[in-house]
Amino acid sequence: MMRLIRLPRHLFLSIMIVATAACASRPLPSAINTPTLHAYEITIDARSPTEAKVTLAVSGAPSSIYPARDGDGVGVKDVRCVDGREALEDNGSWLVPAACTRLEWASAIEDLDAAGIDASLPTAAFSRQHGYLVLPERDGLLRAGSAGGTATLRLRDLGGSITERKYAFPSNNQPPFYAVVGTQATREYETSGFTLRIFGDAPDYSWMDEIHRHVLASWSRWRRDLVSGISPSSIDWAWVRPVAGSEPGYSASAGAEAIVSQIVLREGDPDAEAKARVVIATSAAHEGFHTITGAAGQAWPAWVNESLANHFAIAAARVFLAPADQRWLNAYYVDPEARAPLLEAQALYGAGDGGQAQVFYTWGARFWREIEKVLTNQPNESGSLAALIVETNNFAQVDLNNAGALAMLLDRHSEDRASPIVRCFLQGLDCPSLNLE
Ligand SMILES: [Zn+2]
Repeated sequence: MMRLIRLPRHLFLSIMIVATAACASRPLPSAINTPTLHAYEITIDARSPTEAKVTLAVSGAPSSIYPARDGDGVGVKDVRCVDGREALEDNGSWLVPAACTRLEWASAIEDLDAAGIDASLPTAAFSRQHGYLVLPERDGLLRAGSAGGTATLRLRDLGGSITERKYAFPSNNQPPFYAVVGTQATREYETSGFTLRIFGDAPDYSWMDEIHRHVLASWSRWRRDLVSGISPSSIDWAWVRPVAGSEPGYSASAGAEAIVSQIVLREGDPDAEAKARVVIATSAAHEGFHTITGAAGQAWPAWVNESLANHFAIAAARVFLAPADQRWLNAYYVDPEARAPLLEAQALYGAGDGGQAQVFYTWGARFWREIEKVLTNQPNESGSLAALIVETNNFAQVDLNNAGALAMLLDRHSEDRASPIVRCFLQGLDCPSLNLE
């Protein structure tokens, strides 16, 4: 589920962060391996980059196929069985001809250089100038069910040579499929077996290299210290052109193995560069957190997913940023504290009020900061909370929308000091006793 949120307007550089990976209504993941239901092959030719050819093999013949999560099917055409029988469109899905297990269609691809896209809700687009393609599942892929599978993406360049990437195709419990495939990455970084590839036009600051290394180091550490289960070993980060007239601010979103971002600076702001440094370092780390932790398919409710992403991103930025930059970290991520009981905010969010994400980003992150202070379990190199997430297999046995259940778990690892914190932050009860100012 993708929702948009802006921090309060009094902030000079507004920040847009996108909630991606998990939402409360999703089914819990199956404990067994899901069968490989979907196998996509996607081909795009740089000589005619206005559409992608997609084929989908499914393990059983479905009666219909429909747009992947959050998609509307606009831009999809000529859906048919590979034997030529046409699939008829029916109320936003396509009726699959009898006994057909291989389908094909064409998906429209936008011109990224000419029109730009919104990084917080990207559409499929190709940059001829920078030689790369962005393809999110919601724009162009059709599904037959919620299980994952594989995807192979082939990009044929102007000279005819082919760049091929093979992906695990995510199930609906994992962050959405985002492919970023280029004939050539602008930059590539590697540390401890984790790879970061940069595509497109990153801002031209002398410190961008440092930021890229900072997020890579954070992601590599989180993958080691707070993931129980599968996790990607690389992230492709695409800097995409904003659409004309975009508001100043940073926008980004995350998928299964990629993040997409853009920044528009406010003219005449003497602090623009420092603000950009803080926001890119923190928000990009946040997006990668979704990619890394979401792969295990634990389907955390949004309040947990977003609050943990900001908690760990803020903690990493606190260490990385120079003293002079700390004030902007506070101004954007710590001080604008939207206080509301997290479970109430979660209920409203689940009913469609995306603005509640602001509570998760600030009050939710504060909740984990307070919990970190009382945890007594053996920490790993990313702290006690990270160690607890791993030990509990991503909180697998706990209903995270039940304050009592979460308090019971946390009390076991805090000499019973967690309950009052859970009651205050999740339910809004007895907060004065905590002296939170
Ligand atoms: Zn997020």
